[in-house]
This record gives sequence, C-alpha cells and structure tokens, in this order.
Amino acid sequence: MTETLDAQTDLHCHSTASDGRLSPTQLVEHACAAGIHTLALTDHDTLSGLDEARDAACSAGIRFINGVELSVSWEGKTLHIVGLGIDTQSAPLVALINRVQNTRHERAKTMAARIEKLGVVNAAERVVALAGGGQVTRTHFARLLVEDGVAEDLNKAFKKYLGAGKPAQVRGEWLPLDETVMAIHRAGGLSVLAHPLRYKFSGAWRERMLKAFKSAGGRALEVSAGASQQPDDIHCMATAARKYGLLASIGSDFHEPDQRWLRYGRLSPIPSGLPHVLQELN
Ligand code: AMP
Ligand code: MN
Ligand code: MN
Ligand code: MN
Repeated sequence: MTETLDAQTDLHCHSTASDGRLSPTQLVEHACAAGIHTLALTDHDTLSGLDEARDAACSAGIRFINGVELSVSWEGKTLHIVGLGIDTQSAPLVALINRVQNTRHERAKTMAARIEKLGVVNAAERVVALAGGGQVTRTHFARLLVEDGVAEDLNKAFKKYLGAGKPAQVRGEWLPLDETVMAIHRAGGLSVLAHPLRYKFSGAWRERMLKAFKSAGGRALEVSAGASQQPDDIHCMATAARKYGLLASIGSDFHEPDQRWLRYGRLSPIPSGLPHVLQELN
C-alpha cells in the first residue's frame, strides 16, 4: 500500500498522560480540527492515554496509531526513541515501561527537593497533582516555577533552572538504547529516533548517534520534526535517512495549543520518494 506521508500526518505528540496540556480526547479533536488525518499519540514513557485517544479518533473518523516516546540514556546523553504501531499488551514493553516509570518517579523526588530550594513550596505534592496521574516531567516542574513567579515563562524556567547543567536538573538514568529498540520491535512496532537535531550535538556526535541507533536495529528517523522545519534541516535529515537506510517519519512534538511554532499544519512534508514509516505500519 502506498500512502503519502504528508504534513497532515502527525506521528509525535503529547497529552495529559505525560506533559501535554490536552487530554487524549481533546488532543484528537484539536488535531482533527487542524486537518490531521493520521495521528499517533506518543506520551513520555506511558501507554495510558492510548485507549482514550483511539476511541476519540474512531469517533472523529481519523486514523490512529499507538505510540510512545521512551527516554533512553546513551553515552551519558538522553535520547528519545518513539515506538509506533506497538501492541500495548506486549509484556516485554510493559516491563520496560514500568522500569522507566520508576526512574522517573525517583528522579521527580530529587528534583522536587531542588525546586523547593528555589522557593517553591510543597513541590513534591504539587507536581504530582499537576501531572494529574500522568508521568511527571521537567515540563511540570517548569510550570510550578512559573506559577510561583520564580521564572517568567516556561522557556526561562528551562534556561535558568531545568536545562542541562542547571541547578534543578537531575539527569535520569534512563533505558539502554538496544533494549528499548528491541522491546519496541517485540511489541510489533517501529522504532523512530525522535527530533534528531534537538540534542545539541556536534556533527560528529550526530553521526555517532545515528550509527549507534542503526546498529541497535533502529528503523526510522524523524526527518520532519517540530523544531527542525528549516528546509536545510529537512534536507540534512533526509540525507541521513538515506545514508543509514532509515525510514522517514514526521511529528510535531505538540504539547499545547499555545506553542505556536508547533501548531498543526506547520510541519514540512517529507521529500517525495523517501521510504517512510506509513508504508510499514498496517
Ligand atoms: P524530562 O523527560 O522529564 O526530562 O522532560 C523533557 C521534556 O521537557 C521535553 O519532552 C519537553 O517537552 C520539555 N522541554 C525540554 N526543554 C525545553 C525547553 N527549553 N522549553 C520547553 N520545554 C522543554
Ligand atoms: Mn515533552
Ligand atoms: Mn522528545
Ligand atoms: Mn515528544
């Protein structure tokens, strides 16, 4: 089956199951209103929003693909690996996700203590309430810092406090790359290296990452990602996809309607002729 991977396809976005602002149902409705016809929900380290999103997509009449964005540690750096088309009942995948959720939980406790030192009261309890049962991420801590006036906005919260090397950041010991890719495949899914240009790597490190992902059995690359929409970026990632024999994927990394630069319909389409993930996801 030849399907096009156009800019009305979005295979990377978040709901309240992790650090998105919209519930899975609201997200699907938002995507649908923006003309998206094929959507994957890829919350951080959880499958808990998928059933609701699938029901909403069914009502809205758009195609839905199960997804997840897994946190991986590789060479001391954090990478995000998206799994698409996964079986949510897969025991090895569920076990892997339980492990990473424990890591997230412990890290949140350490981060809460640091955030309290910055002047936020009851950070530990409040961040859990703010996450509303979903996975606790740095985004939630950033929202607390803004709520309490410690930071002006989310961007500044990351820049001053939560970004790499800043006082409230705690580096998670996430999942191993090989195991993550394998678990996605055992769950019948496709592994996708998310937002390859967002890791702030040098060219040499980017090549190392692509090589490591490919040797781990990785299958696809986000050639069109929310934060890499310059024509040069698309071209550069399309070249990388061809060089490493990876399928192309497309995803906005949408978190909330206020993130204007990530608004639906703003993604650049994948260059035609590039083999892509929808050709494999049935
Ligand atoms: P975590 O996985 O808990 O480390 O949180 C990572 C999440 O923080 C990412 O998925 C983004 O949604 C968010 N994030 C990271 N850096 C920034 C930034 N500079 N501005 C806004 N959100 C960010
Ligand atoms: Mn996020
Ligand atoms: Mn990510
Ligand atoms: Mn994401």
